[in-house]
Amino acid sequence: MADDTYGTFRDELIDSGLVIDAGVEGLYGRTLAYEQIIAGIISLTTRTGAGDGAMTVHFPPVIPRWLLERTDYLKSFPDLTGSVHTFRGDDKLHARLLTLVEEGRDWVEVLEPADVVLRPAACHPVYPLCTDGPLPADGRRFEVQGWCFRHEPSPDPARMMAFRMHEFVYVGDPEGADAHRDVWVQRGTDMLESLGLDIEVVVANDPFFGRVGKMMAANQREEALKLEFVTPITSTQSPTAISSVNRHQDHFGLTFGIRSASGAVAHSACFAVGVDRTALALLHRHGLDPTAWPEEVRARLWP
Ligand code: AMP
Ligand code: ZN
Repeated sequence: MADDTYGTFRDELIDSGLVIDAGVEGLYGRTLAYEQIIAGIISLTTRTGAGDGAMTVHFPPVIPRWLLERTDYLKSFPDLTGSVHTFRGDDKLHARLLTLVEEGRDWVEVLEPADVVLRPAACHPVYPLCTDGPLPADGRRFEVQGWCFRHEPSPDPARMMAFRMHEFVYVGDPEGADAHRDVWVQRGTDMLESLGLDIEVVVANDPFFGRVGKMMAANQREEALKLEFVTPITSTQSPTAISSVNRHQDHFGLTFGIRSASGAVAHSACFAVGVDRTALALLHRHGLDPTAWPEEVRARLWP
């Protein structure tokens, strides 16, 4: 496939019956053919990290509000946040709610925040699991996977509001965190290249919010704390990040009070596969009919 505009590839994905327009920009339904690609990517990622003795955990796509506060997400990415609100009023307020809906006005004003928010990254729920006493000498490892939400509606089919992320996380000492990053840069590249994708690993930065955020982004780049695995999806000029490795330094150690074996503040790092983006990269690379993909790629996904 040659360079695509966002719209063309999005239309092709929908016309091919792989994904369904779910009614608002950045939100898609998925059909079985698409979900089989997702299952293949998740299974390959699990096999790639299987030797590390990580604890596999699953969490719902909503997290406690206190957890979002503790991760400092509101400081860094307030514009991507998704908060859950619910109705706690009486009959009178209920009537008002229905009137507002009927009149096509803003009805959210009568709602109140629930105790949960939408999860922006798969790994956030694992850090509170590390707070009871110093970590073992070789740290702790988690495999965690599931739906994430970021409020970044876009016509780019690869920029979704709800998408899946599959992560391998290390929490321990700084050397262990560096090693985790280094191992996964290689493993991640090998894994994605084994699917026939052209991968480049580039230094990147998160889209930190505001003026202070610009400084945080510059610092992240200078210290090469974020590396992205990029490949063409909608453009060859600006390829898309389908996975990333993040070195958080002692950020989560500090905010969650996690101690490494030595008693020092723990460091952490994670490797995250953007599962939906990887599926789109494969569809872009090998065509919209997965049954016609190269046999070696099919064998990696569905052994
Ligand atoms: P990050 O924590 O930003 O490095 O995200 C990890 C991975 O999730 C990225 O490398 C992307 O592949 C994927 N990802 C991030 N944001 C989105 C999005 N809006 N839509 C689809 N995938 C995303
Ligand atoms: Zn993570």
